[in-house]
Amino acid sequence: MKRYGHFIDGKDVEPHCGEWIETVDPYRGEAWASIARGSAHDADRAVAAARMAMTKGEWARMSATRRGRVMRNIGDAVASHAARLAEIEARDNGKLLAEMHGQLNAIAECWYYYAGLADKIEGSSVPVEKPEIFAFTTREPIGVVAALTAWNSPLWFATVKCAPAMAAGCAVVVKPSEFASVSTLEMAALMRDAGVPDGVFNVVTGLGQEVGAALVEHRDVAKISFTGSDTTGTRIYETAARSLKRVSLELGGKSPNIVFADADLDLAAAGVVSGIFGAAGQMCSAGSRLLVEKSIKEVFVQKLLKLATDIRLGDPMDPQTNVGPIATPPQFQKVLDYIAIAKKEGARCILGGKQAAGPGLQGGQFVEPTIFDDVTNGMRIAQEEVFGPVLSIIEFSGEEQAVEIGNDVAFGLVAAVWTKSIGRALRMSKALHVGTVWINTYRTYSYMMPFGGMKRSGIGREQGIESVNEYLETKSVFISAAEHAATNAFVQR
Ligand code: NAD
Repeated sequence: MKRYGHFIDGKDVEPHCGEWIETVDPYRGEAWASIARGSAHDADRAVAAARMAMTKGEWARMSATRRGRVMRNIGDAVASHAARLAEIEARDNGKLLAEMHGQLNAIAECWYYYAGLADKIEGSSVPVEKPEIFAFTTREPIGVVAALTAWNSPLWFATVKCAPAMAAGCAVVVKPSEFASVSTLEMAALMRDAGVPDGVFNVVTGLGQEVGAALVEHRDVAKISFTGSDTTGTRIYETAARSLKRVSLELGGKSPNIVFADADLDLAAAGVVSGIFGAAGQMCSAGSRLLVEKSIKEVFVQKLLKLATDIRLGDPMDPQTNVGPIATPPQFQKVLDYIAIAKKEGARCILGGKQAAGPGLQGGQFVEPTIFDDVTNGMRIAQEEVFGPVLSIIEFSGEEQAVEIGNDVAFGLVAAVWTKSIGRALRMSKALHVGTVWINTYRTYSYMMPFGGMKRSGIGREQGIESVNEYLETKSVFISAAEHAATNAFVQR
């Protein structure tokens, strides 16, 4: 079984405490590798390496154009190792191999995208109202960035945090989830050959409350970029506030998938099914609340059941598989607990509703694609994030009620609207209080489009040009051309 140390200052580093954590293949239920159990000592070492790299090392002296070229090399390295990285991640978190192939393409492209941005970060000269003063702004890297990521798409999260951070000139310490760290460590190993100077990209592994918390508290970390649950995000925000660290948070969702009577119902049914059962519902953007217009509810639910019944559960490596296992034992239990809660609340289970069993499913933690009808929006199953293949059906009448129910949750990550009316599409996209609105589509992403949440779904945006601002500080510089001191230097302002 392969052992993975931390990746610090370009080297494989053993954990200071000497302890290792087994990482389990959720399909076979077997440990297949082990990772270092990090401590505050390891976090300290990684932050010191990052700080040195971005203040005194080669990275600090490198031109922005050259920095971009190095980042292009990372994209090339990811592209040429894509098949291996995809397989590692599918093995570590149970994501479908077919989906990982697509994601790896996007990851390489994302490195290229931010590589191109590295030498386009500009300040400005400002025509201030004082004739003898020349004033300009510069945009400087914010400092060492700690990137804390969740288990459902670790390589993607590391990329959308680290690529803009590195384009800005920062050095990073990534702390992937203890449930799926290996792909991030493998990507780190590609950095050296790509020409990334030692210390610029570091990875420490281990438990959130140990090495993760140590990074959040570290005095030399300037910025926390976090993807995970709203509970952990809140704790991190509170801790970071004590040292006024900059924080961006990508948290959970309870997203409405809203189907109007005028929609193409076959298209909508396919979108609803992939929106909740894709990745076994383990997506922050899962469309876990189906809001369906009363007049078409019966016919639409029949279409949904037909598609959902055909879903094939199985080995994530098999191209015929539609839905893989639940990635971690605690998450598996959580999904089953929420199914029990929904039943107790009076929701009517019309599909699934228990652990899935059958040939090829023995070793893994599988949950049947589950649909609850007669859900009211006040129920816990309609308000709390399950992060599993569980759909709640809620009926509505008319746009106003759709908006009211759609917005009536603590989260605000994404929403989808299915309609043939362009006017309705525009009205709904404006009225929904979420970071992303999809019209007649679901799970459409681009590294060029900002992604992030409103309300309890987070703070800040990732992806797109604007996310580089999360890793920059603006500095104002005033230069006086005056030959003599002002007559009254004390009232200059
Ligand atoms: P989590 O909050 O349990 O863990 C996320 C990361 O934080 C892990 O690396 C973990 O080790 C670390 N961590 C845990 N406690 C910590 C602490 N006290 N201090 C510092 N770090 C700590 O989340 P998870 O179970 O890994 O992921 C699932 C959650 O992530 C879901 O709620 C999901 O909605 C959310 N998510 C959000 C997005 C998004 O882009 N908005 C994307 C994917 C997942």
